[in-house]
Amino acid sequence: MDGWEKVRAVGEGSYGVVFLVARAASSAGGTENAVLKTIYLRTHGVELEEEKVLQEARLLQQLAHPHIVELRDWLVRDDQVHLLLEHCEGGDLRSRLARLKSDGAELPEVTAISYFAQLLSALLYLHARNVLHRDVKTANIFLTRADLVKLGDFGASRALDHESQLINTVVGTPSYFAPELLVSRPYNRGCDVWALGCCLYEMLALERPFHSLNFLELAEMILKRQPAPLAPRCSPMTRQFVAQMLRKEPSERVTLVDLSSHPVLAIHLAAIE
Ligand code: ADP
Ligand code: MG
Repeated sequence: MDGWEKVRAVGEGSYGVVFLVARAASSAGGTENAVLKTIYLRTHGVELEEEKVLQEARLLQQLAHPHIVELRDWLVRDDQVHLLLEHCEGGDLRSRLARLKSDGAELPEVTAISYFAQLLSALLYLHARNVLHRDVKTANIFLTRADLVKLGDFGASRALDHESQLINTVVGTPSYFAPELLVSRPYNRGCDVWALGCCLYEMLALERPFHSLNFLELAEMILKRQPAPLAPRCSPMTRQFVAQMLRKEPSERVTLVDLSSHPVLAIHLAAIE
């Protein structure tokens, strides 16, 4: 990672820090930017398993997709894992939605659907390779200068040994937990579909569909209650589309492949082009 200089901190991760870094570009005079994510293997008495942390790097290294944050380089040194990632200038989607909300603005439905379609293509790509992301949420979705979205933070991702393998380990972020995770049922791709549905809802409502600081209350909401209806500004088709991803029973939940041929995408994406 020669030649990279720290410019400023851009985020605080759960196990380390994220810095914007720059270096002189090879061509005349300019600089290029990247993001350096440092994960401390031993900190505050917590010991992370090096193998699990390295998994994020190894997995990302094998992925190349226009809507997945690119890993440019990585190294392990002195109990620290450093990931050099492409810089997404627009920051994370969660912060963007928070700004819209505090300005009393909203994200247009076409934009939400366009972001959604980009994330859907990233997840289809991952699932086709038997990789589950397992921490899909607006804080792990990044915006580029050109206003494209990229899925990042593969710290919780997991490669399956085979397509129908079921997993038991509960990881991720509680607000985006699918019902099956909460009742310790073995799960598979459906948990990413649920979380993606939560993200689309959040883009349209500027609120998460299920939210409580009290874990038991949150679990009860996810398992038994329906989220507040989306505002009438959302087309009925979009509202139904979100509801299909938030079906509590995993076997009844829509699949990514079904989502990709849903008319809601064709209609909205045609409006953009
Ligand atoms: P953690 O595993 O700790 O959640 P993340 O990869 O989600 O780490 O990064 C934490 C924060 O750092 C993000 O919410 C975002 O604000 C910032 N960040 C991370 N990666 C990038 C990136 N590629 N471009 C811009 N900002 C980033
Ligand atoms: Mg994160």
